Amino acid sequence: MTLLLTAGMLGLLAAGWVVHPILSRRWVSLGDAVPASVMDREARKRVALAALKDVEYDRAAGKLDDADYEEMRGKLEGEALAALRAAEPTPGRASDRKHTCGFVNPAGSRFCAGCGKRLP
Ligand SMILES: [Zn+2]
Repeated sequence: MTLLLTAGMLGLLAAGWVVHPILSRRWVSLGDAVPASVMDREARKRVALAALKDVEYDRAAGKLDDADYEEMRGKLEGEALAALRAAEPTPGRASDRKHTCGFVNPAGSRFCAGCGKRLP
């Protein structure tokens, strides 16, 4: 009985030794590496492009007539273009930081978007 208890305790200790580093690990997310303003612009760009794609699918499926399609497409194209322009980093700003790899990262970046290395 004592041997069984000892084996059980050793098993629990071994399981804890294996699981503890996994549970206590700090997960690094994309949000840690990219400033919130860049994430917002990227999200707006993706939403605008997805909406434009939806309109194209709805037209192809016959859910939209030509007039509705043209109206929605014109509106969504404008939004998508604005989102694309906003999502592009503006090169040459004094606040932008050029990394040794040559990529110009937006101000506030913690990691280089060109090579992935931590910025100084
Ligand atoms: Zn770089």
